[in-house]
Amino acid sequence: MRSSASPMSESLRLGRATLRDVTPYPTERTACDADLSDNTNLFGAPPAALRELARAGADEISRYPGLHTRHLREALAEYAGVGLDEIVTGCGSDDVIDSAVRAFAEPGEALAYSDPTFSMIPVFARVNGLIPVPVPFTTSLDIDPEALLATGARIIYICSPNNPTGTLASPDAIAHVIDRALGIVIIDEAYAEFSGGAHVTNAPQHARLLVTRTLSKAFGMAGFRIGYGTGSAPLVREIEKVRGPYKENAPGERAAACAVQEDVEWMRTCAQQAVEIRDRFCGALRANAFRPIPSAANFVLVPIRDADLVARVARDAGVALRPYSALAGIGDAIRVTMGPWPLMERALEALISARDRIQRDRDQATTGLRP
Ligand code: PMP
Repeated sequence: MRSSASPMSESLRLGRATLRDVTPYPTERTACDADLSDNTNLFGAPPAALRELARAGADEISRYPGLHTRHLREALAEYAGVGLDEIVTGCGSDDVIDSAVRAFAEPGEALAYSDPTFSMIPVFARVNGLIPVPVPFTTSLDIDPEALLATGARIIYICSPNNPTGTLASPDAIAHVIDRALGIVIIDEAYAEFSGGAHVTNAPQHARLLVTRTLSKAFGMAGFRIGYGTGSAPLVREIEKVRGPYKENAPGERAAACAVQEDVEWMRTCAQQAVEIRDRFCGALRANAFRPIPSAANFVLVPIRDADLVARVARDAGVALRPYSALAGIGDAIRVTMGPWPLMERALEALISARDRIQRDRDQATTGLRP
C-alpha cells in the first residue's frame, strides 16, 4: 500500500532526528580559472611529495596501507615536537576533530565554540548527537573565555587563527580556557604555519587538550587528505579507538611523510609569500574603500553587502571566492585565499566590479521606483 506521507516526512524518517538541520557540505565546485575559495596553498605542492607520488607502485595501490601510519607519525611527531604516542593522524584534520568529538562527548552533551568559526564544527556536533552552542566573540574578535566556560560544555573548540575571520585568540584567553575548562579543549591550528602557532608542542602537557593541524593548507597537500592532532598519550589513545583503521591512503602517507621531513623550508617560503601578499592585498582593498578584517592566516575576510551575489558575479568573471551570509557580529562577507599576486589582482578587480555593479543596479532600481 502506498503511504500518504509527504516527501518531507519520508526523508525525516530516513535520517536520525539530529540530522534534520544538517545540510551536506556543498559539493558543486565547477572548475574556475582563479580559485581563491578554499584556503589551500596556491603556490604549489611540496617537491618531495611530487617525487614520491611518481614512485607509487602497484603493491601500494592494491594492498591496504600500514595500520599505524608509523612513518608519517614519526615525521609529524618530529615536526610538531611531541612523542610518537602523542600524535594521531586522520583523513584530514576534519577526521581527527570528528573522531575527537565522538571520543570525548556523549550524545546530548554540548560543544561550545566562538561564532563564526569553521563551518564544520556545528555539523560535527550534530552528526555525533551533540548540541552546538555558539558563543559571540568579543567586539575585538577575540574569544570570550568566561562566556565559553559558562556554557559548561563537554567540549570547547577554539580555532586560532580562526576561519573565516583570520583572527587569533589571545594567549591569555586560551590559557584561561585551558586552565578552567571542565571537559576537553580542542585548539584548531589549521592555519598556524601562517602565524606561528604556539600550542601543538605543549598539548601533551595538558591532560584534556587536543591541538589539531593539517597538511592541507601551508603544506600544500589538501588532495592527500592528511591531518593530525597532538595531545597526551591517553587522550590520543581515546581518539585512536573511534577513528578506525586505514584512514590515510598509502601513496599520500608516504609522500606526506617525506614532505614533512624534507620540505619544511619550502613550506615556510610559501607561507611567507602568502603573508606578504595578504598585507599587500589588504592595503589595496583599503585603498578601494573595503574594510578587510586584519588576518593572521592565508586568507582575508572582507565584509560586504549581498555576499552571495558578489560571489556569483565574481565567479562569472572566472574568480571563485567564498561568500558568507549574516555572520554573527559581522554580517555578509567574502573570504579570499591568498595566492600569487596576479591572482590577487583578478580577485580585487572582481570584488570592485561586483560591488559597483550591484550598487548600480540597486541605484537604478531605486530610481526606477520613483514616481
Ligand atoms: N580546520 C579549519 C579551521 C579549516 O578551515 C579546515 C579546512 N577548511 C579544516 C580544519 C579541515 O581541513 P582538512 O580536513 O583538510 O585537514
